[in-house]
Amino acid sequence: MIDSIYQKKLNDLLAVCRKNLRSVDEDLITRAFMLSLEAHKNNLRASGEPYFIHPFEVAMIVAKEIALDDVSIASALLHDVVEDTDFELKDIRAEFGDAVADIVNGITKITDIFESHEVTQAESYRKLLLSMVGDIRVMLVKFADRLHNMRTLEYLPPEKRLRLAKETLDIYAPFAHRFGLAQIKWELEDLSFKHLHVQEYEKISRQLRSKRREREHYINRFVQPIKKRLAEEKLNFEVAGRAKHIFSIYNKMLKRNKPLEEIYDLFAVRIIIDTKDNSECFIAYSIVTEIYKPIPERFKDYISVPKKNGYQSIHTTVIGPDGRMVEVQIRTRAMHDVAERGVAAHWIYKENNASLDEELEGWINWVREIFEQKNDDTPKELMESFKLNLYQDEIYVFTPKGDLKILPQNSTPIDFAFEIHTNVGYHCIGAKVNGRIVPLSTILRSGDQVEIISSKNQTPNAGWEQFAVTHKAKSHIRRFIREESRKFAEEGKETWEKKIKRRKISMSKEEFDKFVHSLKYADIQEFYSAIVSQKIDVDTLIEQYVIRSKHPVGEEAAEAPDSDSLFSKFINTARDLTSGISVLGMNDNFMHQYAKCCNPIPGDDIVGFVTTGEGIKIHRKDCKNVLSLRLAESERIVEVGWPSEHNADYITGIHIHGEDRPALLSDITHAISTYKNTNIRSVNVDSHGSAFDGRFVLYVKDTDHLSRIIEKIKNIPGIDSVERFAGKGE
Ligand code: MN
Repeated sequence: MIDSIYQKKLNDLLAVCRKNLRSVDEDLITRAFMLSLEAHKNNLRASGEPYFIHPFEVAMIVAKEIALDDVSIASALLHDVVEDTDFELKDIRAEFGDAVADIVNGITKITDIFESHEVTQAESYRKLLLSMVGDIRVMLVKFADRLHNMRTLEYLPPEKRLRLAKETLDIYAPFAHRFGLAQIKWELEDLSFKHLHVQEYEKISRQLRSKRREREHYINRFVQPIKKRLAEEKLNFEVAGRAKHIFSIYNKMLKRNKPLEEIYDLFAVRIIIDTKDNSECFIAYSIVTEIYKPIPERFKDYISVPKKNGYQSIHTTVIGPDGRMVEVQIRTRAMHDVAERGVAAHWIYKENNASLDEELEGWINWVREIFEQKNDDTPKELMESFKLNLYQDEIYVFTPKGDLKILPQNSTPIDFAFEIHTNVGYHCIGAKVNGRIVPLSTILRSGDQVEIISSKNQTPNAGWEQFAVTHKAKSHIRRFIREESRKFAEEGKETWEKKIKRRKISMSKEEFDKFVHSLKYADIQEFYSAIVSQKIDVDTLIEQYVIRSKHPVGEEAAEAPDSDSLFSKFINTARDLTSGISVLGMNDNFMHQYAKCCNPIPGDDIVGFVTTGEGIKIHRKDCKNVLSLRLAESERIVEVGWPSEHNADYITGIHIHGEDRPALLSDITHAISTYKNTNIRSVNVDSHGSAFDGRFVLYVKDTDHLSRIIEKIKNIPGIDSVERFAGKGE
């Protein structure tokens, strides 16, 4: 026998369950009620009341406001038993079965995550997500638990109060939003706000109270003619004024920097129609807008195009009596349920509890997508893109076939490409928006038709991450770049080690590290990558190393070995031979090579760098490598110039961008080869859809020759830009 107070509570709970759930195992709920009452009999809450009141109220929230199923209500009653009493999980499992035990276990784990301060916040997110995918009811009961704790927060010491309020605002409210639990999200936000900003909260709620009568009066006046017309159309409807929650009012005031009186959508009305026929919503819409003039840009049809979290409704803003703006939402009863209770409403609408319906699966996939990449992202990255994705508004864009894609606001063609397919994302080189070619960084707008232009030679680059918005795109780009630089570094390592071996140089790891460090590379990986991309010249580097190891810095430098004095003689000879006059061509016996990093051609300002094995390497004066060589090895830099007459052909490269069209490539090659019989060594063209991106390697006589060719190509219709490029790395 139990106390009559508790008997009444049990009856209340069962009554709510009968009202809100399709089927109720009353025995299950009664047993859970009894066990929880027994288990918590010696515990008290901070408020001084029996602890059992808490699990009971959580169960009431689940039954009333989330209206899930009997299993989740039993789990709510038992959610703190394992954590706070002598009962163990195996007792719950034996008594109530796996489903209840697993949910209780999940809730206990989430609580643990937040109690322990060792884990990073992103890690908490990840675990939260994992627990949800196991059984979505874990999260929903946890929302109810947090809601009741927030409702009774004032009994806790101030420090704990603030911590919980902040955590609720940062984590629980966004999650509730994402899961479509609008009602719970609002209450969580308002309760957090109340404790975090006591004065602002009081001020706004006082003002709202003082205007309440006036507001109600106005809304009444506004809805009268609408009600009359809806009734004439024989629609079954409910019209209600809609209280704005305080936190959103506060945010609007901050965002628009306006006082409360000027936040216009304080007047808000909702029309809920009891029907299965969505078209009745549009009838209601036309009635409203016949009576009041609508503001066209505020019309949103989320019925034809639901939000990603399943939300459906018509939104419009009209000009009501006295010229005041009123926001009107129109939706069916089922849409309203989804709007208020999100995923929970889907849960109970589905026919068969064993299989998840499509929308529910959508939610779970969304969650799964996020932590699938768990090995790639740092906690900070995960946290940032995740938070962004939780709150973002959405835009609706279309594929050329008319398929709808829903993306977060500020998404770019990159996001769109990854949304279509990872491979499309990896290889996109450009995009057409509404038929026009746009840069990949273009911000998309609702209604845009987007076509991705791709090329199999294209790969993601680090710049993309700057304008990708979705978590999916960002993490794929990051993953690719990490993988790329790893491969790059391996290749560079091979090149370097081969060269070192050929030159029979032995180098300890310490010496090598010191050397790389002295070159100001962040790490060895970056050094190797620079070799592959030919940002540095390996031979020159080895020279530097050889010289340095023979010329140790500091005092030892004085004892230079013989071979070294030979080398300085060599440098001096080189200096004499060149001494600022044109040497190339005139001194054919003087071995020289053109540096691959900058590929100089006659007309370029050049300098020479004296090497031990390969004579003089000729660089362009503005070559990045020369700048660093000047600092490190200035004595080995020699002034050189081009001979006044030369007949040789020199290699150079040009990079051409434009809009592709038939015969563009042949126009370009024709323009090149008809000018002084210029030879083309290689052509590398990315031309898919409409973007043309070509790299041509040519033999030219000098800079004049090159610039004339560039001019000629620029005059070809469709060409946007022609630029010289120096090496592979550019
Ligand atoms: Mn609890």
